[in-house]
Amino acid sequence: MSLRLSGWDDTIVALATPPGIGALGIVRLSGKEAINVVASLFPSKDLTKQASHTLHVGYLKSMGNVLDEVVVSLYKAPRSYTGEDIAEISCHGSPFILRQVIDACVQKGARMAKPGEFTQRAFLAGKLDLAQAEAVADLIVSNTEASRKTALNNMRGRFSHSLKDLREQLIKFSALIELELDFSQEDVEFADRAQLKQLIENAKIQTEKLLRSFQLGNVIKNGVSIAIVGKPNAGKSTLLNTLLNEDRAIVSDIPGTTRDTIEEIINIDGILFRLIDTAGIRSHSADAIESVGIERSRQKMQQADVVLYLFDVNETPVEELVKTIDDLQRQQINHLLVANKVDSLDEGEARRKFSGVANVIFISAISGLHTEVLKERMVDAVLRDKVQGEDVVVTNARHYHSLQEVNKSLRDIEEGMTNKIPGDLLSLDIRRCLHYLGTITGEVSNDDLLDYVFSKFCIGK
Ligand code: GDP
Repeated sequence: MSLRLSGWDDTIVALATPPGIGALGIVRLSGKEAINVVASLFPSKDLTKQASHTLHVGYLKSMGNVLDEVVVSLYKAPRSYTGEDIAEISCHGSPFILRQVIDACVQKGARMAKPGEFTQRAFLAGKLDLAQAEAVADLIVSNTEASRKTALNNMRGRFSHSLKDLREQLIKFSALIELELDFSQEDVEFADRAQLKQLIENAKIQTEKLLRSFQLGNVIKNGVSIAIVGKPNAGKSTLLNTLLNEDRAIVSDIPGTTRDTIEEIINIDGILFRLIDTAGIRSHSADAIESVGIERSRQKMQQADVVLYLFDVNETPVEELVKTIDDLQRQQINHLLVANKVDSLDEGEARRKFSGVANVIFISAISGLHTEVLKERMVDAVLRDKVQGEDVVVTNARHYHSLQEVNKSLRDIEEGMTNKIPGDLLSLDIRRCLHYLGTITGEVSNDDLLDYVFSKFCIGK
């Protein structure tokens, strides 16, 4: 890896645990001087003489003052997260103590780490590739079973490995084709075209599968937006409260969620549903729509991944519902039809009334009757037609865009071969494909790309 960032040689320090009061707080250092810096503050024994992967209890002292009683762990290069020497100081979790410990380390020559700088060093040391490094960030913010699992899979390199094979094979072909160019007078073919065609075909299938998985990946990572719409008094706010009481998600930071709009979030089977415009539902404002088609609700529906159309079984004539469904279908809106208040008349009667309409879910928002069915159908509406049981799921928009370019160049290669274009042009297309594959895992990278990727990390990771 030729890339060296400014400050690469520095020893860096940061708080690795969240700011604020805790039982413990961990200050982490990485770099050539990491162990020396901590050793100079740790009079109890000579840390520079200790083995890797060991723990040491003692007092941390700076300029004659005891700062804290701590445990220092040592990890020596290259057997550490960053591949450099690492020292971690477990302190008592007082922000005051932690501040003093960090200051003392800085005084001894460490500098404050930038966001993601530890992981960036791990990447530059070849400990993990770029896609794996990005999965580390995803893992830290994962807040459901599904997002944890995909991030962990990607961090372990499942996604990267699936691309690595392809890249290696393409490199082999590219080399053979370029060899042909050296012998261009003699009209030889080192690279078996039938084999290349097969490889490209397989690669296309693989990238298309990955591209499809992004939709699901995005859902897993960011959640699904769902809008509850319907006429006033259909029971929207009642349903909202019932769902929230049952499944309100405890979330601190979900990417893409703005705090200025009130958004409630529920977690069903590990999928986050973000309820759009909850404030509108709650306030019974003019926003409560009279019919499907009013501009405001139209906007709301268009923003949503799924629209939950709620209607009162008693008050809704079948013809009106049919018209609404037509509207929704015409606008190609992914929707669920939910008949509310089945408790207020015989459920059988309600079902008979709408027996001519397919896929109506009958519930009572007030009593919670059949809300389990509704939730299953909400999950279905999201996963329907999407990849199921895939272990490699693309969750990152950057990877998605690169994969689109990979797929495009694969199609160009294929077309070029069909049209029997000369080897030098074919070789260019293959190189372009390799380039985009390389940007995903980081074989191809530059400062801007790395800054972009690692700036999204928290400090200390
Ligand atoms: P919104 O205008 O669509 O938000 O409707 P609300 O949630 O405010 O409900 C309107 C009225 O219908 C309220 O009096 C609710 O108590 C009542 N309601 C809501 N859900 C049910 C239900 O499942 N069964 C019955 N019987 N009444 C309900």
